[in-house]
Amino acid sequence: MIKKVFRRGFIAALMAAVALTQAAAAELRGIALTASGDSARLTLDLTDAAKQSLLTLDHPDRIVIDLPHTGRMHGVRPPAPAGVVTAVRFGSQPYGTLRVVIELRSALSAHVSWGSGARGRELTVTLGEPMVAVAQAAVPKAVRAVHAPGDGERDVIVAVDAGHGGVDPGAIGRGGTREKDVTLAIARALAERINAEPGMHAVLTRNRDEFIELRDRIARARAAHADLFISVHADSIRDRTVSGASVYVLSVHGASSEAAKVLADRENAADLMGGIPLDDSPLGAVLVDAAQDQIIGMSASAAERVMSALEGVGEIRKAQVQRAGFVVLKSPAIPSMLVETAYISNPGEERRLRSSEQQARLAEAIASGVHGYFVQYPPDGTRFKQERRSTLASSAEAAPGTP
Ligand SMILES: [Zn+2]
Repeated sequence: MIKKVFRRGFIAALMAAVALTQAAAAELRGIALTASGDSARLTLDLTDAAKQSLLTLDHPDRIVIDLPHTGRMHGVRPPAPAGVVTAVRFGSQPYGTLRVVIELRSALSAHVSWGSGARGRELTVTLGEPMVAVAQAAVPKAVRAVHAPGDGERDVIVAVDAGHGGVDPGAIGRGGTREKDVTLAIARALAERINAEPGMHAVLTRNRDEFIELRDRIARARAAHADLFISVHADSIRDRTVSGASVYVLSVHGASSEAAKVLADRENAADLMGGIPLDDSPLGAVLVDAAQDQIIGMSASAAERVMSALEGVGEIRKAQVQRAGFVVLKSPAIPSMLVETAYISNPGEERRLRSSEQQARLAEAIASGVHGYFVQYPPDGTRFKQERRSTLASSAEAAPGTP
């Protein structure tokens, strides 16, 4: 009897082992690196081909290659660094994906090709000519919009940041809606709405399904000389009955509520999806002086306007602008806010978030809040500033006694 149970257990273990072997369809048998001058070549000797994906990241510059259903033969070690390659690392990702990280001395283009190897398939990664800085390349060159007035007054630039993307889907609704898709749709609608407004111009930090580090989102906004940064999200929460929008700005002195802190922790973890360690630099190191206090103050007034405009679209979760330590809002020079447009975890809101009418309504509200902010706080050299000056001049004429 005991023997029988033991045998049954043994068979179960054997079947599990077979299942594991099937999950890892290919196996890495060896890896070699050759480098010369500004280029390098990494060759992966595999038993079979896999549908690889390639990701380029910076700080430090590195190439990340994911090979689904791929294992690593016992004893296979990463090659020693050489030339432009400062390190090669392996990592195991969920669902049996093998991750190969190639750290580089500087940004390089990467090209992958499959060939037949000695006993299986060979994946060659060619690292060549330095890349154009990603931040510059991604931001449209024509920052000066078509409706920029001819008198030298520039448009205000709004950086619209669609939260999540690529390997990071963000929150996922019960109906399968992914936050990264909803945020991109709303961000596009918002950019369109902003561009329709004279004197305003929008730039998107991403306009496709790609992974961007939180710091790079700020860098792209800076490269576009943005006057305001808006990160668009659609959070989820365990309690599916919770709904409504909320607007957040950066806090240097801790979160305004426990819920705000939990949310910031979750949004900050986005970088983890791309294999980037969590940002743990103290906020105080980035934001210290009075000028930066002022930026947060400006962020808060912009956020308040956006929030009251959103009240017209639907309910508001919290009647006040919330504060927490969001990494994506850590820009020392650009007023920034994060808009949680709705709860994707709420089935009703998930359905609405998918509709282009609702996306347009949200975009319209955010844009009108942004417009109100620029009327009150026009950046120097902009049409808004010019208009404000003429408004002030005419009111001074109307009341000559006022200083
Ligand atoms: Zn999010």
